[in-house]
Amino acid sequence: MKIEINNVLKVKNNGIRELYDILKENDANGKFLFVTEPNLDKLYGDEVKKQLQELGDFELEYIDESSIKKAMDLASKLIEEEIDYAIGLGGGKILDVCKYASYIAKKCFVSLPTTLANDGIASPIAVLKMANGKVKSLQCEMAKIIIIDTTIMLDCPSELIKAGIGDTLANYMALLDWKFACDNGKDKMNDFAYMLSQESYESLLNAKSEKFDEKFIKVLANSIILSGLAMQFTGSSRPVSGSEHLFSHALDYYGKTPNLHGLQVALGTIAMLKLIGEDYHLILNFFKKYDVNINPQRLNISKDDFVLCMQKAVTMRKRYTYLNEINFTQTQLEKIYDELLEEL
Ligand SMILES: [Zn+2]
Repeated sequence: MKIEINNVLKVKNNGIRELYDILKENDANGKFLFVTEPNLDKLYGDEVKKQLQELGDFELEYIDESSIKKAMDLASKLIEEEIDYAIGLGGGKILDVCKYASYIAKKCFVSLPTTLANDGIASPIAVLKMANGKVKSLQCEMAKIIIIDTTIMLDCPSELIKAGIGDTLANYMALLDWKFACDNGKDKMNDFAYMLSQESYESLLNAKSEKFDEKFIKVLANSIILSGLAMQFTGSSRPVSGSEHLFSHALDYYGKTPNLHGLQVALGTIAMLKLIGEDYHLILNFFKKYDVNINPQRLNISKDDFVLCMQKAVTMRKRYTYLNEINFTQTQLEKIYDELLEEL
């Protein structure tokens, strides 16, 4: 097993302003590709471009979709134009395209996340769309340099922070699924990865802040990084993604309204815990404390869609979870949906 430690991991306020110093300290020179999208470029692009300009040549590339094709196109560009560094500024989609492209092209990936909405920002996995519309988790490498700018995180809509909470607490269900798969001889346990994933959600559950402040952002960033490291140990998303993620993938594929990944897996977590008869109040109370509203009605998920996606979840990916074993009826799922409307 090979563990690659990032060269640089900074979690601090106005961290993005230190990009030049960090790259300089790491002897970065040559050609840079700055990858982002127009809105983020408007907000934070100048700060990045100003610093890259001082280091050498840079080119700007906008990404509008997170597909395997897009990542391959970007990889070709990195290779053909002999670009040494891909600097990704954005959320999961931009970072995943950039992460996979850099991995294929064997170039250095610098990650500048603008949200903490999911645990992909510090993971060695890229989740990319295939031509058939379904998503695939592809193993690659963590960014060599990650700068989590807490000022930017506090600047973004609180809904994104709430999604990050959802994706982190989903580890709780993911670990139950993983253990269940191992107990049934369908998977192997990795104790280090298990511990890191557990530590990720437990440290978040112990957060002391009453509201989203810098302290809270640091705890959440820490949790997300621990989740990323858990994935690094297994080379897969297994420690942080179980049946609740399969449900979310089904929603992405069959659902009518797109919602934030973190909120969908949060809903999946509570729904699955109910389905297997596990206590979910610890998680639910935390969601309530920070106003993580995952009521299916609010997310525009109808009863029919909920039932369909719970039924289809098992088909979304080859991952053994409770869904492979438990028998549940349509009536049972409808009852859970009604309860969720009441409780969430
Ligand atoms: Zn996730």
